[in-house]
Amino acid sequence: MILIDGKKAAEELREELKKEVSDLKAKYNKVPGLTVILIGDMAPSQIYVRNKEKSAKEVGLKSDVIRYPDSAEEKVILDKIKELNLDDTVSGILVQLPLPKHINKQKVIEAIHPSKDVDGFHPMNVGNLSSGYESSVPCTPLGCYLLIKKVEPNLNGKKAVIVGRSNLNGKPMTQLLLKENCTVTITHSRTKDLKGECLEADIIVAAVGIPELVKGDWVKKDTIVIDVGINKTDKGIVGDVAFDEVSKNAKALTPVPGGVGPMTIACLLKNTIDCFKRTQV
Ligand code: NAP
Repeated sequence: MILIDGKKAAEELREELKKEVSDLKAKYNKVPGLTVILIGDMAPSQIYVRNKEKSAKEVGLKSDVIRYPDSAEEKVILDKIKELNLDDTVSGILVQLPLPKHINKQKVIEAIHPSKDVDGFHPMNVGNLSSGYESSVPCTPLGCYLLIKKVEPNLNGKKAVIVGRSNLNGKPMTQLLLKENCTVTITHSRTKDLKGECLEADIIVAAVGIPELVKGDWVKKDTIVIDVGINKTDKGIVGDVAFDEVSKNAKALTPVPGGVGPMTIACLLKNTIDCFKRTQV
């Protein structure tokens, strides 16, 4: 079984991006910039944002974090986004989710100009992705896609089963694999025979949030299994895939932690650079 090393893949991607930033700097005399807006002091968000800032600086991006208290008014955030949309030194804007309850997530997502939407959540980018046009792609599914391609560069005709239909993971994952000519089944909490669907799959991507949902006897030999889940349990952090059981059958499997997670931030950096490149003439 191939243990898909997301940490190593993310390191390799960051190295490529570092080189790309240096080339862009030589060509345009400026570097791509990522601005993150963080509202409130939730511990996980603080950690994510610190990691994003550190990684962005490591590859040579200009990186800023704008912090607001939990009580910040929605208008203040929307006005700041408008200002950043017009700022030439900002290539990508990310508003760290989740937001305090009094701030409307959809309004915030739609306020970010699609060309600076490094999360790929703006309806324009969602539409472009589903139409097969160039777009920003949400970072986690993009990371999953790159890991799958490392194991199997030619996905033509493969049967992929996506477990979970969130806007963040399952739906964009579906679009990415469709574009690669996979036959894609997207499953969810009302799917009648999830085990039966998974047993048909050459590729399984599990993004559910239920510890070890995908069992060993749900996976046929030679299946590539990507585990997006991050679940806190008594035995520590586990994924949505029963790792020990599935590793006996699968062709390749991502561990949790150390699989998809590290690729997510690397893909955010990639998206920032891609946003910059699309705006240069
Ligand atoms: P989400 O928005 O809660 O969506 C979960 C999906 O799973 C829904 O579509 C739901 O179906 C489906 N589902 C629930 N129970 C199911 C069941 N018994 N059988 C089949 N499908 C079922 O979750 P998310 O935001 O996509 O996150 C999923 C997991 O990924 C979480 O553990 C999260 O922490 C993790 N995550 C990891 C990363 C990373 O960087 N590695 C990034 C983001 C998220 P319905 O639509 O029918 O409700």
